[in-house]
Amino acid sequence: MTTAQTTVDRSELDVQPTPLALLLLGREADPRSERGVECPGDLPSPSDPGLVERARAAKERLGDKVFVLGHHYQRDEVIQFADVTGDSFKLAKDAAARPEAEYIVFCGVHFMAESADILTGDEQKVVLPDLAAGCSMADMATAEQVAECWDALTEAGIAERVVPVSYMNSSADIKAFTGKHGGTICTSSNAKRALEWAFEQGEQVLFLPDQHLGRNTAVRDMGMSLEDCVVYNPHKPNGGLTAEQLRNAKMILWRGHCSVHGRFSLESVEDVRARIPGVNVLVHPECKHEVVAAADYVGSTEHIIKTLEAAPAGSKWAIGTELNLVRRLANRFAAEDKEIVFLDKTVCFCSTMNRIDLPHLVWTLESLADGKLVNRIEVDRETEQFAKLALERMLALP
Ligand code: SF4
Repeated sequence: MTTAQTTVDRSELDVQPTPLALLLLGREADPRSERGVECPGDLPSPSDPGLVERARAAKERLGDKVFVLGHHYQRDEVIQFADVTGDSFKLAKDAAARPEAEYIVFCGVHFMAESADILTGDEQKVVLPDLAAGCSMADMATAEQVAECWDALTEAGIAERVVPVSYMNSSADIKAFTGKHGGTICTSSNAKRALEWAFEQGEQVLFLPDQHLGRNTAVRDMGMSLEDCVVYNPHKPNGGLTAEQLRNAKMILWRGHCSVHGRFSLESVEDVRARIPGVNVLVHPECKHEVVAAADYVGSTEHIIKTLEAAPAGSKWAIGTELNLVRRLANRFAAEDKEIVFLDKTVCFCSTMNRIDLPHLVWTLESLADGKLVNRIEVDRETEQFAKLALERMLALP
């Protein structure tokens, strides 16, 4: 399998892995990493009082040539310039529905921009305002590690009956692996349907890269037991599992997690219930199993928004998802007398999402308006072909 390339306007990035020191300084780029690292220079200062006006003016100069996508977890200062907001899959589809836009500016993280590149036309250029905006979860499964895992499954004599199901939050390489081996992509909204489909195709599922979404869907939504699931640790030989354990498991869960949602604990749930009597606890399925089991409601970002829209006045909610979104929802629904709090007492932004800030957005829009293509994300053809196959299987799910 080839490795998905991040194309930037600097030829030296295509060669050797970047020295660690440069990565730590936030300079240069690591084209082999999902997260990418690049500090583009010439950034406007965050304290520049004219940033909002500069972003507005550059966007106006670009007109229909640019389409700005804003993920739900983005900061308010960025979201205000989004032409459309949503989760990663909705945004990629929205971009594909705008073929007249030459530039798709994706205010989100690296794997989302890759998915947008896969789903949009060849002539459309997807741009990520800061290449350091990666996803720790997606980085937890590399192409090499997943190939080793497949070798372990082959060795155990089960590869032919295992169907890979990969969460949208994965690199293009992992999506391509999934497509190549007869699997599908899923989102947090359709994970159950994806698993049902996968168990019609085979007898076991390799779920990548989020162990929590895989476990929660299998146990909570499909009635499997915790014992039906094993966790494959890519840092241990054979995933830390015996061939027998691999053969007996229904769900082989990749040992990955979201660093934001993984922070919520059973204690956070108990604590908020003690602090706010009558509170409804609503969490994302990327949370740990014990958190999901203790919550009143569980669902994707879109589900969380819809639930709060439909909630009666006077109701109280503790939400277990990214803080930018929770804060925005709390402000939005305060006027309707709905009390919305963050599930945990400590602040929990997605730090890589937060890298996309107004200075980076201004720099991106002004560069594009001046005819300079920056921070392009481009998936190579072979990877794109197989990743698209996996995405199309998801789109065809009943
Ligand atoms: S919230 Fe979690 S899964 Fe989403 S981009 Fe951040 S680290 Fe990745």
